Amino acid sequence: MPKVVLATHNPHKVAEFQQIVAMTRPDVEVIGYGGPEPVEDGVTFAENALIKARAAAAHTGFAAMADDSGISVDVLGGSPGIFSAYWAGQQKDATANLELLLDQLADIADPHRTAQFVSTIALVTPEGIEHTVAGVWPGRLARAASGSGGFGYDPIFIPDGQPAGAERTTAELTSAEKQSQSHRARAFQAFVPLLKTL
Ligand code: IMP
Repeated sequence: MPKVVLATHNPHKVAEFQQIVAMTRPDVEVIGYGGPEPVEDGVTFAENALIKARAAAAHTGFAAMADDSGISVDVLGGSPGIFSAYWAGQQKDATANLELLLDQLADIADPHRTAQFVSTIALVTPEGIEHTVAGVWPGRLARAASGSGGFGYDPIFIPDGQPAGAERTTAELTSAEKQSQSHRARAFQAFVPLLKTL
C-alpha cells in the first residue's frame, strides 16, 4: 500500500487529510509524522509548506505532504501572511493577534478592509519531485470580533458572497459550513489531482 506522511504533529490535521485522501485514493495510507521539525524560514506559505514536506520525506523515505496557512490583509501588503500565528508576539495568542489587527485597521473604511485566508499544500516524493497548490478564501475584516466557533482569526473574518445585512464571521458559521468553503477545502480540491502522481 503506498504511504504518504503528513508533516504535522496536529492529530486534527491528520484526520482531515486522511478523509480527503480516502475519497480519491483509498489505497493510499496517510500516516502522521513524529520526526524532527525543521525551521520554517521560508518567506511564502508555499516555501514553508515545502520545507516541512521535504524534511518529512527525507526523514521517512516516503512521499510527504505539508500545509501552511494564514490570513493576508490587502492594505497591509499581504501581512500578517506567514506571521499569522504570532502577529502579536511569540506567545502565539490568537486573541492578541486579532486585536492587534483590528487596532492596525481602526481607521480603514469597509471597502478597503479586504483580506484572504490562504492555505498552501505541498507534496514531495522520495524522488524529490515537488508540487504546491493553494486555496484562497476572499473576504474582509470585521470592525469587532464576533462568534465563538473556529480558531485564530475566525471571529474577525467575513467571507465574501453572503446576503447583505446577514453577514457572519467565519466564527459564526457552523463547522460544516466553514469546512465546505474554506481556504483549506479549496486547497484540498486543488490537491486531489496530485494524489494520482503517487
Ligand atoms: P498553521 O498553518 O496551522 O500554522 O496556521 C497559521 C495561522 O494562520 C494560525 O495560527 C491562524 O492564526 C491562522 N489561520 C490559518 N487558518 C485559519 C482559519 O481557518 N481560521 C482562522 N485562522 C486561521
